[in-house]
Amino acid sequence: MQAVYIESHGGPDVLTLGERPEPNVEPHQVMIRVRACALNRLDIYTREGDRGLRREFPPPLILGGDCAGDIVEVGEQVRGLSTGDRVLVNPKITCQQCPACLAGQDDLCPRPQFMGSALDGSYAELTAVPAVNVHPIVNEVSYEQAAAVPTTFLPMWNMLQRKIQLKAWETVLVLSASAGVGTAAIEVASKAIGARVIATTSTAEKAEKARELGADEVINYNEEDITERVKALTDGKGVDAVVDHVGADFFSSAFSSLRPGGRYGICGATTGLRTELHLGLLFSRQIQIFGVFMGTKEDMQEITALLNRGTVHPVIHEVFPLAEVAAAHRTMEETNFFGKLLLTP
Ligand SMILES: [Zn+2]
Repeated sequence: MQAVYIESHGGPDVLTLGERPEPNVEPHQVMIRVRACALNRLDIYTREGDRGLRREFPPPLILGGDCAGDIVEVGEQVRGLSTGDRVLVNPKITCQQCPACLAGQDDLCPRPQFMGSALDGSYAELTAVPAVNVHPIVNEVSYEQAAAVPTTFLPMWNMLQRKIQLKAWETVLVLSASAGVGTAAIEVASKAIGARVIATTSTAEKAEKARELGADEVINYNEEDITERVKALTDGKGVDAVVDHVGADFFSSAFSSLRPGGRYGICGATTGLRTELHLGLLFSRQIQIFGVFMGTKEDMQEITALLNRGTVHPVIHEVFPLAEVAAAHRTMEETNFFGKLLLTP
């Protein structure tokens, strides 16, 4: 089958399109004919061997996590799924045997493996995955939209619904609204929960798109001070919650934007891993901080239901053919896009 793999770490040039053997379907797995896969930061870090992801070659590694497609083969132990089913794939594979997995808290599994990083992934015509990692999608949902969901909407659903428990009458600050996670945060907060959303972004064009998506207010962080603007927009009170997926650059201004008793959720740190926390403010203002990394299978089931009902519509920036994977990676590194970047085999 055709697939995109790497045989060493490096820039986009190490991405190779070529023939790889078809995967075997184990008894607990299904084989998916991939129709679309979505790019994530993890793909870039894996390619570069950055952030603790250096590995030994050979064997070559097929990149890619999030994807959607058709089931073409079903393992002998699998129940409830059939060939021809249209599905999306949750790329985080957990052991299903540890106490956390058995308690339904599989986001805390100590042995998770990511498709396209620890295991061969979805930049391919075919991929084999555990049946518990696939979720059926309705005909009205495109493969591209479904592939855009797992790594963006799953942590947002876990963060806003389960951890922060955002309410319809509350206001949430969403940092950097243009990336996949930022657009998912706006959609979950405004459409699924019904809360008021203040988003931050870097250009007037991205601000307009954030408004179309459901943001009530948008702060251009190149022109305005985030904390001051949030104060003005909330009658001096501050926001009830913050969604952070960018880390160091905005932590201090976002943290200062919270009301007493506010909740701070963080699920990524693309601008830097280290920052300073004012411990006096943390306890005197009784702030709660939630670290969020993907979510549980139950979270995935719930967000897929919202996708199937048409409550959320993932934003797609551009779809590239598999052969143009290097251009897709470069676009992601330039960060001048709004929504998800996808590949179609
Ligand atoms: Zn486990």
